[in-house]
Amino acid sequence: MDAISYQRAADIGSAIQAASQPGTVFIGGGTNLLDLMKGGVARPVRLVDITHIGGLDTITALPDGGLRIGALVRNSDAANHAWVRERYPLLSQAFLAGASAQLRNMATVGGNLMQRTRCYYFYDTAFPQCNKRKPGSGCAALEGNTRIHAILGANDQCIATNPSDMNVALAALDAVVRVSGRDGERTIPFAQFHRLPGDRPDLDTTLLPGELITSVDLPPPLFAAHSKYLKVRDRASYAFALVSVAAALQMDGNTVKSARIALGGVAHKPWRAKATEAALVGRTLDRSTLQNAAALAVQGAKPRRDNAFKVTLAQRAIVRAVEQAGGAA
Ligand code: SF4
Repeated sequence: MDAISYQRAADIGSAIQAASQPGTVFIGGGTNLLDLMKGGVARPVRLVDITHIGGLDTITALPDGGLRIGALVRNSDAANHAWVRERYPLLSQAFLAGASAQLRNMATVGGNLMQRTRCYYFYDTAFPQCNKRKPGSGCAALEGNTRIHAILGANDQCIATNPSDMNVALAALDAVVRVSGRDGERTIPFAQFHRLPGDRPDLDTTLLPGELITSVDLPPPLFAAHSKYLKVRDRASYAFALVSVAAALQMDGNTVKSARIALGGVAHKPWRAKATEAALVGRTLDRSTLQNAAALAVQGAKPRRDNAFKVTLAQRAIVRAVEQAGGAA
């Protein structure tokens, strides 16, 4: 058994100070981290408990009409907050599609951002090959069961997917992640927060060592009347997405004024379907427009042995999500 030291941080400054030591990991709800530790996938030397830092567990209105969700807000609290439900129903739906009620009660927004992939071979240390767990060791998934793996943006270094539902909605909403570190505060546009595997599949995000997520900021709500989070999975609850779609529209009568489409379950990060978005603008939501736009989302897809179905599934899910978003008024 590994020895682990534990420290409770009283404020952001002391948390960042404590994290300057190698092997330090922040712990909030712990719903993913503790699993990783129990399985020997994560082996931190020191845990810094951030759950007693004041001010990070609130949801506040921003002067521009947006919303600031503190990093320690529990997923269930965010999902059921009146402002989130009324102004960002897409995000509320995504929260409620994730995990189980018990896990949502415990898991934090910051921890959800940092959720690690559910690739079987990443969690099973009996497989020595995993570039994400052990850089340079290879990828056991390439010759294994690839049903849940990526079809977009992957390479032979890693074909894992990001498992979060919340992240897909935040990508569509163009959220911003606020972080604090030794060099002060900075903001990271959501599209730049998670990474594709590239040559560093061990890195899921662009966070710098020791940086602490303090909040997620949402821009003013534009899509409350027309949005839909659609999750397709192997069973009705407590399962990760095979494919999910966050669809958000601004409508001018029957015509699409603007569109945001993000996909989950298909890539190492939430995948914005920009070509699909552009193909919807100025159009009415007839079936052939939707099918043509959805096909653009999977251009360049590279399915593996067991997940070619995701190419078709993603298109059908986009069509259904956008139809439902458009008809939601
Ligand atoms: Fe590891 Fe990524 Fe390969 Fe899974 S897909 S075994 S996480 S390198």
